[in-house]
Amino acid sequence: MPNYICLTCGVQYAESATPPDHCLICEDDRQYMKESGQAWTTLEELRQTYHNELRPVEPTMTGIATVPSFCIGQRPLLIQTPNGNVLWDCITLIDDATVQAIHALGGVDVMAISHPHFYDAMVDWSKALGDVPIYLHRDNAPWVMRPDSRIVFWDGETYPLLDGITLIRCGGHFPGSTALHWAGGADGKGVLLTGDTIMVVADTRWVTFMYSYPNDIPLNRTAVEKIVAAVEPFEFDLLYSGWWDKVVRTDAKNAVKRSAERYIRAITAGLG
Ligand SMILES: [Zn+2]
Ligand SMILES: [Zn+2]
Repeated sequence: MPNYICLTCGVQYAESATPPDHCLICEDDRQYMKESGQAWTTLEELRQTYHNELRPVEPTMTGIATVPSFCIGQRPLLIQTPNGNVLWDCITLIDDATVQAIHALGGVDVMAISHPHFYDAMVDWSKALGDVPIYLHRDNAPWVMRPDSRIVFWDGETYPLLDGITLIRCGGHFPGSTALHWAGGADGKGVLLTGDTIMVVADTRWVTFMYSYPNDIPLNRTAVEKIVAAVEPFEFDLLYSGWWDKVVRTDAKNAVKRSAERYIRAITAGLG
């Protein structure tokens, strides 16, 4: 039986003879239904139209793009470290060419995903890459649409994924929304990968913190302060959100702090 994939969010569901009646991810306030209604596809169908491209973004970090852009168009990152390779976040399309290209970079030892909008076809990715464990925060477990034994739920506020790689539960957008800290990145100045828990905005010296991006629903002050406190113990000069151009290229830790101050001013004192 196929594992159907929602054509709005790109998330794959458990096996079923017919497409599911609903996409729980898209019916949630944080996503949206297309005006044209719910529609479904499969990986086999996607492989007819789409392919992936690997693009270097740092000396030992590579982004993966689906071309043409599919669904919400996020960009996972493969980090090569002396202690193992991490695939951070996920997309839907996986095919033989992508697996070969990733193997040429040393393969993947472990996967971790920031939040449910990027769970996509994570189980097929894990299988294709050699049954790689997929680390998800347990507070996001209700949003796993295709349960699988390769998924490892972690608990608490931080998790040491590999030496020099730490998962940080920030919450906010989702209760288990997670960032990844790579201590050795940026020549040892540190890199933070944030999905959309902390989102770089049009002026890339700044970030924002939203409950829903497509529907413009802000987080409250407490949630934003919690995100800033969660990343405070970590040093980072670069910050990558989950899309290609969403990068703070220097002084990223201060960018997070000053953006939180601006955000809280805006939702308390107000602007305009
Ligand atoms: Zn959906
Ligand atoms: Zn999201």
